[in-house]
Amino acid sequence: MKVISFSEPRFVRAILEGKKTQTIRPLFREKLIEDHKVMEGFSIGGAEPKTTGKMMKVLLNKEPRFKVGEKAKLMFKQRSTPKDSWFCLDCGSILEVKRPLTKDSVGVPIIKREYWYCKNHGERNPHTNVFPKHFATVRINDVFEIEMGETRKGKYLGFVHKEDALKHAKSLFRMNNTYCYNGIMTEFAIADGFIQHNNQSPWAMLEWFHKQYNLDQPKRFAVYGWTT
Ligand SMILES: [Zn+2]
Repeated sequence: MKVISFSEPRFVRAILEGKKTQTIRPLFREKLIEDHKVMEGFSIGGAEPKTTGKMMKVLLNKEPRFKVGEKAKLMFKQRSTPKDSWFCLDCGSILEVKRPLTKDSVGVPIIKREYWYCKNHGERNPHTNVFPKHFATVRINDVFEIEMGETRKGKYLGFVHKEDALKHAKSLFRMNNTYCYNGIMTEFAIADGFIQHNNQSPWAMLEWFHKQYNLDQPKRFAVYGWTT
């Protein structure tokens, strides 16, 4: 079964509480290539491109990883933590199991119960404050493509394909070759776990993606929605 990995504990909490029901993942990868250019004045007649000695980034497209109906394992820090780790739901630190050994007043050892210990929060409640590395299994029930970027009018999020947008709203407008509707940002920010309280703005979601992926150049993403 394929894995979707997360690295922020607030998203794990939102998923476990049923508030986050989708994830947005890049449909591109960056590759560094040598920058070549044809020397000026020699462009006719087949001059060999000369390297400028600089490296430049190019974006390569990817296909969505999931199809509707597939199951996915949701994991926390899949590649960077040991198998069978448990984590603190408040800070995402790996938990240790502590086994306190003390002695009573006459020196007889007292075995106390084991507990989960977080380096930031101390003892954790096993029912409400901890989660395992593989914390959920879901069934993908929606897959579509979006684009996020920035125009002079500001940042935007829009559907790449009109038929996907029409499932969400009838009244659409175009923004940089994508299909948007009023409220698209709020709908996505709620489904993606960025809005959990009424006072949160959907723009925090775009800022987060901008920080991770730099949306100065518009970029494409797959949205995977699920049911548990
Ligand atoms: Zn903690």
